Amino acid sequence: MIRVENLRHVYKTANGDKIALDGLNLTIDDGEFVAIIGTNGSGKSTLAKHFNALLLPTSGKVFVDETDTSDEKNLWNVRKNVGMVFQNPDSEIVAAIVEDDVAFGLENLGIPPEKIRERVDLSLDAVNMTNYKNFAPSKLSGGQKQRIAIAGVIAMQTKIIVLDEPTAMLDPQGRREIMSLVKKLHAQGKTIIYITHFMEEASQAQKIFVMERGKILRSGTPHEIFTNVAEMKRLGFDVPVAAELAERLRKKFKLPKKILTADELAEALK
Ligand code: ADP
Ligand code: MG
Repeated sequence: MIRVENLRHVYKTANGDKIALDGLNLTIDDGEFVAIIGTNGSGKSTLAKHFNALLLPTSGKVFVDETDTSDEKNLWNVRKNVGMVFQNPDSEIVAAIVEDDVAFGLENLGIPPEKIRERVDLSLDAVNMTNYKNFAPSKLSGGQKQRIAIAGVIAMQTKIIVLDEPTAMLDPQGRREIMSLVKKLHAQGKTIIYITHFMEEASQAQKIFVMERGKILRSGTPHEIFTNVAEMKRLGFDVPVAAELAERLRKKFKLPKKILTADELAEALK
């Protein structure tokens, strides 16, 4: 479980203090799949880095399973529980061969070589990249590189996986692959924290947190968040196409209030 209490994060810059997180509270339960959305600069990436103690609170607290991330002696425990995948696949790859890259985190843990091999093979299989294990990462597509980065996190066997806009630099095919992989990991029991600016992706989560100016503006199920079309637009968000279309059709037809998916819209139009 992750619990964030009154979290503030202030970056010190040459031009003065920049408040990135401004008294933020949230709780994420074990096994949940949550999405975090928010306009550029709302503090999503700063928040993500607090989940595994890459950043520490200026004030307030972040707990991972009741361990306080700001206590230095908990660092190892926090990192063991929370894996991170970032936006730019190129900046995440560290080794010259795919399987070495997936093994990288494990080698630092002092795990015996045969165990490492076993975990690397299983992780590559989980992301459908077994055939590429001897490839140079530079030969892979962006989507394949992100799957390698995710394999690295799977190999670490963290129970929480934080993904910060992992599909932002991918083509539609790559995005679909990452999304189906994320859903598979959730089905296997991982806690997923998925930051995205693609609303169709966010609508796959069980719960959405909407960030604005370093705070959680609201939270709710995708139906609760996205079927409030007018409000989401006012806040500067798109809504999934079916929700938008349903809103327009309501001017002519009597439709149920909460329509989010194409299937729900098709059903309502019958
Ligand atoms: P998001 O991921 O939602 O776009 P960020 O967490 O990256 O937002 O940034 C939140 C705010 O903090 C922005 O105003 C951004 O300019 C600022 N910021 C982010 N990183 C730094 C940094 N290293 N130094 C100073 N300001 C930063
Ligand atoms: Mg960001």
